[in-house]
Parts: sequence; structure tokens; C-alpha cells
Amino acid sequence: MAKWEYIDKPMHSEHRRADTRYVDKDMATQCLHAGERWEKQTFWTSSTPIYNSTTFFYDSAQELDDRVYYRKPGYVYSRGGSPTNTTLERALSTLEGAEVTHVCSSGMAASHLALLTAGAGKGNLILCSSDVYGSVYTMVENIFPHLGCPSILMDFADLNKLEDTIKREKPKVVYFEVVTNPMTKVIDAPAVIEMAHRHGAAVIVDNTFTTPYLLKPFEIGADFVTHSVTKFLAGHGDVLAGSVSCYRKDFDKLHDMLIQVGCTLGPNEAWLALRGLKTFSLRMERHCANAAEVAKFLEAHPLIQQVRYAGLPSHPQHETAKRIFPAGRYGAMLNFDISDCDNAAGANKDKAFRFLDALKLILPATTLGDIYSLIVNPARTTHRQLNEEELATIGISPGTFRMSVGIENVEDLKEDLDQALKACQ
Ligand code: PLP
Repeated sequence: MAKWEYIDKPMHSEHRRADTRYVDKDMATQCLHAGERWEKQTFWTSSTPIYNSTTFFYDSAQELDDRVYYRKPGYVYSRGGSPTNTTLERALSTLEGAEVTHVCSSGMAASHLALLTAGAGKGNLILCSSDVYGSVYTMVENIFPHLGCPSILMDFADLNKLEDTIKREKPKVVYFEVVTNPMTKVIDAPAVIEMAHRHGAAVIVDNTFTTPYLLKPFEIGADFVTHSVTKFLAGHGDVLAGSVSCYRKDFDKLHDMLIQVGCTLGPNEAWLALRGLKTFSLRMERHCANAAEVAKFLEAHPLIQQVRYAGLPSHPQHETAKRIFPAGRYGAMLNFDISDCDNAAGANKDKAFRFLDALKLILPATTLGDIYSLIVNPARTTHRQLNEEELATIGISPGTFRMSVGIENVEDLKEDLDQALKACQ
């Protein structure tokens, strides 16, 4: 069990902390039990109900006052928190090994809140990996600089260049994803975090792709961990949600930001995410096994030019992945190029579209992390705002596809890929 420093007074962060009954248990057990059955009623419910109430009141004005001024844990108005959300927050703190977590309305809201809480603001530089989710890229490149907060976006794979930049530019906040989208580059997260700290920056890790099943960024020193809970944690393609985990010293600021920005998660969404989370560990086991098998199958396929999956020995950062992830866990995300699609963006999109249209089981849809297998061609979807040169620099061609491997029977997935590859020729 992690030894956090307890602050010996009732605080509103207290009930969002890791659930001490389950911190030492396996992730499968944590997914089922952490956060549940926390406060004693005159009865127990096996699962947390949806508290669809916008406001909360107590037996006396003094009791409400104690909650308004955070002298006792509890709820006042649901923009600042409500019981269903709290169960999800406690569960996520437990899984991430975090001191405390706030959930919010989307992964984008989580990234925004984490940046504001970590110190992004007038004159404080954000240093962000250029391989982050497209809307985060745009937020850091456009929105923050317009508000007087400068930013630099760069490749985090070259550690020497990164250290030079950190030394010279002295960022206040460093933000990155560990497995990049869509090229599945693996960033040496422990080295980046150590380097950022040595030069005084706070570090935010977006753990959406890797999830706590592969990596717990607090164990390697991260200050903030964000998630698009929409993806693997909730997992069923039926809810948008985000989360920010941090240390208790930062929680008051995070809480204020959430209340003032107003991007609270609704209790119905919290409940859906919580229900999805129950099978997170089971799903991840299957996601990882299926992805490894699909990657091997595609690598051997004559109509495939290249496959990028961190678990393949041919992946350029396979050794880094082996070092920073638990044995045999490389995630569900892979990327491949169909043979004979030109390198010019837009060219040969017909063949790419024929491939997508020929799929019978795998869904050609833009999200990731669902139970269903999903495929997109980034040049036409997630990275459409990049010009031809920028796409080529990253390595995206019209025939590049990102696949989020689901939990279907793997033989059915291979059969679908094979028939679509043949049909598009
Ligand atoms: N972070 C990553 C890595 C993502 O892939 C996404 C969405 O695809 C987000 C953040 C944003 O999440 P949301 O769509 O829940 O706002």
C-alpha cells in the first residue's frame, strides 16, 4: 500500500481517495469493489445508485455550513460533486494508485483542467508532445497562447533534443501520452518525467492509451494523470467522461477549476462509466491478447506493407515497451499500412475507402477503447487538419490505418481483415 502523507483534518478530498480496503488487491478485484459500499446506510446496495439530485441538504444549518466550508466531507451542489461520481473517483484513485481523483465531462475537459491546475497560465510555458490527441494539440497550440500562455509542441522521442529544450525554455508544465496516436511510438516515460522534474516542471501524463493495466504514471513520478474515461476504462462506447488524478496538495485548485469551468460529469454518465469499469481488467486481458495476435497475423499478410505494434519485436521501441510495461501487456492499439497506397495525402484514398467499406465485422469509426474493434484511416479523420507534408513527417499515408482491437473472437477478426484486404485490391 502506498504511504501517502495524511492531512489530519476533515477535507473534501478525503472521500475521493483510494479505497484502502482494496489497494493491495489485484486489479480485477479492485475493478469490482473499489469505491463501492463506502458509507453505511440502514441497508447496503451491492452497486452505487444514480443520485439524480442537483442539491443536498442536512438536518441543520450548521451541518450544511460544515460542507460549504469543507470542514466535513459531503455534498452541497452537484456541479462540485455527487455520490455516484465519488464512487467512480474512489475507484479510479485506487486503480491509478493516486491520492485523489476528480471526474469530469470528457477527456478534453480533463486535459484542460489538468493544464490549468498544473500552472498553465499567463507567461507560464506548456511543453507538449506533438504526438498527442488532435484536439489537445489544437488547445495547446491555439487556445492557451491566445490567453497569454505560450506553448511549444515537439517530438518527445528524441530525449537529447527534449532536454535541451526543457533547459533552455524552462516550461512550467510538461504534457504527453506514452503510446502515441496514431503511430504507436512508445515514449520513455520515466526518463521524460525525471528530466522535467530536474528542471522544475510539473508533469501531466494522459494515460488513455496505456491505462493503469499497462502503466501507473504516479509510480514513476507523474504529478497529474488524465484519462478519456470514454475509452478503455468505461469501454462500452456509450458514455463520454474524463478524469484527473493528482496529489492532495493540488486538489483544492483542481476542485476550484472544475467548479468554475463547470465541466462536471453527470451522475447518469458516472454510473455508466462505473458499470463499464467493473470488467476493465477482464477486457484489457482480452484486448491485449487479441491485439498481439492480430498484429502477428497482419505482419505475415502479403497485402500489408508494415505493422506498428509495441509488442512486435520489429517495433522500433519494443525494448522500451518491454521495460516500462508489465510482461506481455502492450495494449490494444496498433497501426498498419496497406500495400500500394501512395504516400501523397488524398491520393489512393479510393483503395483505403474500399478496404473500410469491405469490412463486415470491424467498425470503421473514429473512437477507440471500446469492446468492439474499430478502424480509422487517420489521414481522412483524426489527422485531417494536417497538410500533406505534416502527414508525411509523421509517417501517415492514405493507406495507414489505426486499429483499436476489441474483445471479439480473434479468428473472426482475422477473417474479416483478410477478406477486406483481398476485396479492396
Ligand atoms: N486523450 C486521448 C489520448 C484521446 O484519444 C482522446 C479522444 O479520442 C481524448 C484525450 C479526449 O477524450 P474525449 O473524447 O473523452 O473528450
